[in-house]
Amino acid sequence: MKVLVIGGGGREHALVWALHKSPSVTEIVAAPGNGGMGELARCLPVDVNNLHTMVDLVAVERPDLTVIGPEVPLALGLVDELESRRYRVFGPTKDAAQLESSKAFAKTFMQRHGIPTAEHALCTTLDEVRESLLRFSVPVVVKASGLAAGKGVVICNTRLEAERTAAQMFSGVLLGAAETEVVLEEFLTGEEVSFFALCDGKHAVPIAAAQDHKRVGEGDTGPNTGGMGAYSTDGLLTPAMRQWIMHNVAQKVVDGMASEGTPFKGILFIGLMMTPRGPMVLEFNTRWGDPETEAIVLRLETDILDLFNASIDGTANTVVIRMKPGASATVIAASGGYPGKYVSGLPITGLDQSDDDGVIVFHAGTAIKDGQLVTAGGRVLAVTAESADLRDALNKIYERLKTISFDGMQYRRDIGHRALRS
Ligand code: ATP
Repeated sequence: MKVLVIGGGGREHALVWALHKSPSVTEIVAAPGNGGMGELARCLPVDVNNLHTMVDLVAVERPDLTVIGPEVPLALGLVDELESRRYRVFGPTKDAAQLESSKAFAKTFMQRHGIPTAEHALCTTLDEVRESLLRFSVPVVVKASGLAAGKGVVICNTRLEAERTAAQMFSGVLLGAAETEVVLEEFLTGEEVSFFALCDGKHAVPIAAAQDHKRVGEGDTGPNTGGMGAYSTDGLLTPAMRQWIMHNVAQKVVDGMASEGTPFKGILFIGLMMTPRGPMVLEFNTRWGDPETEAIVLRLETDILDLFNASIDGTANTVVIRMKPGASATVIAASGGYPGKYVSGLPITGLDQSDDDGVIVFHAGTAIKDGQLVTAGGRVLAVTAESADLRDALNKIYERLKTISFDGMQYRRDIGHRALRS
């Protein structure tokens, strides 16, 4: 079986790695892939955000299955384009992907279906922002409705700051493109947890919980990033809490989307804040998270192909998703300066070591230039391991990181700190 994986980050390297283990998979193509996938997949350097290019690529490659990693092709409707041409594809349609691509849609959807989330107001003008702000205490959260690669959320300590932030979102100063809808949200406190469920349009089944580390600096300081590391353990959520999330969030999403004529298939990533009032949904993503996926696939014992097929065929309720007990973690080695300006094209050394220590180095922003592996993005490598014990998994990762280097390399030395403290 030939599988096409769309995307070129650590998440897609992890998906390629998991697919490569499947006895049914004979060939993997990655678009565009990255500097580390070459041993497992044939990489095709294309613009995955161009629908025409992607449809043409699928017509030429004729994969038996296409798996879409990033959110932008989903939001553009690549699943719809491929399904209408009768290709098998894993992921939600454009309408279903609105759960992620439009925070305005997600918030009103949650309201319609009684899914617990922060109070919000939807604003399309600055006057509406000013008026609605009177209903919120500070801090207040200001969110651009559309996709913003993690940069569209600002926590504001005063109403004036919130108003200015919204103005900058509307004008395009903040995000490079003008936003037409801004969501004001009640500020929540508590621990954040991500939960992943597999959905097939009718059923939602649990995969695993994980915790991301969004801030660039140790102790969760500094600006937000795409994610500097993650871990997944059984202990992150009690069985009762998992059940609660499945019943009160995941299944409600699947039922609600089906009842609105936009059935949801694919991975539902539920970003939760465990508040004193109970769990509240911060956001949905409609795809595997990055870097949580790197950690989760190491614990996944079930053939990942079974998950993709069950989602497409509407049989998710029959698939048994087995996770190795214990823990897994991933630590991101990022370019110096990230998430601000950084230099690319820097040689990376220390990756010739075998994986005998149980550590897998997934590549994110890497490329091969003149035969040399170089940096090619903000997040460069996702150094990943699993073990019966989280501390042991992290120790293995940090040992391996000592052997890897590129100019300006930075990584957080406190991934998993909340779990290790408790
Ligand atoms: P990403 O793309 O990185 O997943 P996003 O841009 O979709 O993020 P959210 O996940 O909604 O945005 O928010 C990013 C972060 O901002 C959250 O992980 C959380 O730390 C913080 N945040 C969002 N909403 C709230 C809220 N209502 N109260 C407190 N903090 C919040």
